[in-house]
Amino acid sequence: MNIGVLAVQGDFAEHCHVLRTIGATAIEVRLPDHLAGLDGLIIPGGESTTLSRLMSLYGLREPVARMASSGKAVWGTCAGMIMLANEITEADPVPLQLMDVGVQRNAFGRQVDSFEQALAIRGFGDDEYHGIFIRAPVIIRVGAGVDVLAALPDGRPVAVQQGKLLATSFHPELTADARVHRYFVALAGGPSFDPDAPAIAAPRVR
Ligand code: GLN
Repeated sequence: MNIGVLAVQGDFAEHCHVLRTIGATAIEVRLPDHLAGLDGLIIPGGESTTLSRLMSLYGLREPVARMASSGKAVWGTCAGMIMLANEITEADPVPLQLMDVGVQRNAFGRQVDSFEQALAIRGFGDDEYHGIFIRAPVIIRVGAGVDVLAALPDGRPVAVQQGKLLATSFHPELTADARVHRYFVALAGGPSFDPDAPAIAAPRVR
């Protein structure tokens, strides 16, 4: 499976590492040409205002939107989730408007208010997922065709899926648990997702 990771800003290297540990081919995407032949694309966490500007500068908005509307799997984590939203609570950044959700940036406060939270993810069995939230956004509106896969204890959704589009407020690429990456590779047409497969990705060596 060829999975692209948008590599203009943010923690793309960590996503590439997890993808490789689960046997997918990770391809860094910096220009529209790099999208050719991909089975799926991950938009990583980082800073969505910067991501938004760089996607415009490198002409990536249209091609990424076309890829999503042609039925390819696209997953946004954190800032990537902000980019996938239909609307956000501020004028900047300008999201790609691919998923029928509304998102609030920095919903938990500043960097020091980052936190970790065990999450029950739909379809992942009894083992909770360790969610790492870094100056994270939250989903404040969920459209009719959107499934909530995980929510915080207060009920606010933090993982959603609409067809082959996936969005998470948290950072699965920063844990040793590759289940969300496996789930996404399955969405992109890879081996079907097995929640009982060994959950541990090899630690990243820099
Ligand atoms: N706070 C960032 C933003 O609004 C997102 C942070 C992240 O991706 N970890 O874009």
